[in-house]
Amino acid sequence: MLSKRFKPWHLVPFAVRYARLRLTRRPVLVHFEVTMRCNARCDFCDYWKTDAAARETELKSFADAARHFRPMMITFTGGEPLLRADLEQIVAEVNRAAPLTWMSVITHGAMLSVARAESLWDAGMAQFCISLDFLDERHDEARGIPGLAAKILRTVPLLTARGMTVRFNTVIKRENLDDILPIVRKAAAVGAGVNLSVYTDFKNGNAAHLLTAEYHARVETLVAELLAYKRKNRGVISNSDWYIAQLPAYLRNEMHEPCRSGETTIHIDPVGMVRRCPDFPADTHWSEYKGYAPIACNACYYACRGEAQAPLTISRFRDLAGSTAPAHGVAETAPAPVA
Ligand code: SF4
Ligand code: SF4
Repeated sequence: MLSKRFKPWHLVPFAVRYARLRLTRRPVLVHFEVTMRCNARCDFCDYWKTDAAARETELKSFADAARHFRPMMITFTGGEPLLRADLEQIVAEVNRAAPLTWMSVITHGAMLSVARAESLWDAGMAQFCISLDFLDERHDEARGIPGLAAKILRTVPLLTARGMTVRFNTVIKRENLDDILPIVRKAAAVGAGVNLSVYTDFKNGNAAHLLTAEYHARVETLVAELLAYKRKNRGVISNSDWYIAQLPAYLRNEMHEPCRSGETTIHIDPVGMVRRCPDFPADTHWSEYKGYAPIACNACYYACRGEAQAPLTISRFRDLAGSTAPAHGVAETAPAPVA
């Protein structure tokens, strides 16, 4: 799904930039972790325990890092990035420093009003990625924010109707295996997309949501359902076919290829230090980044690991060029679930 900020012809300069970055072994995607603070209460992540005083040391600008890396994509993440009242200013500066860069924000969505989304879009944002693991109150309970799922599902159609690009970031875990396709269909029904990833306990050791062996058969069925959905509906699910097809092998611990996180994607924390992936410690200032060697780690199947291994196939271009159907005009034949 191409951001509505860009036209199809923009794929040409993006492809050129991608090729240059890969040839020079520079990151294609840079995540700016603009704060580690968060006002959710997830039981699988401890960022919300970050001391409020941390705000004093957060970088005021990420423009120099954006200019230095000039990646193809930049993500503003956290913690909860919308806690920063100056996020629009940060985004606008980065946009000026690295023009024609695909900029996204990853948010839990509780503070994403239409007005805030419009001001971020005006600053240069190309996509809103909103965490959504359930379509009902189970999401509120998981995030510790009453009314969150309903608020997201009320807001997203208002954003897509105004021409803004939205994706749900959905983590597949044992409790929502039957909710993944309904989330995908809901996304399509409101003109949004979906990024899928798999739950890991690497963040804080909470194994309660892991897809252990008794869930693997259901995961295999889900993978078949997702790939069948993708064949008919390009542009809704942003993961590559390869990434989805490899999920069972990852869960069965059959992946032995070293992780190449830190090569095509890096994370820069709130004080400007780089880490290879969101769950490894920061180890060097961004200005001294020299790349990371592949590492024997199998702790997660995030996109920064899994998509980095995915081959560049025609289906990936079809995913990018595919567009989500406008609200109430979905090609998918199964009924959209009630939110
Ligand atoms: S997972 Fe996201 S929303 Fe939950 S505590 Fe961590 S940063 Fe906050
Ligand atoms: S597998 Fe890679 S991306 Fe995942 S935690 Fe390990 S080093 Fe990080």
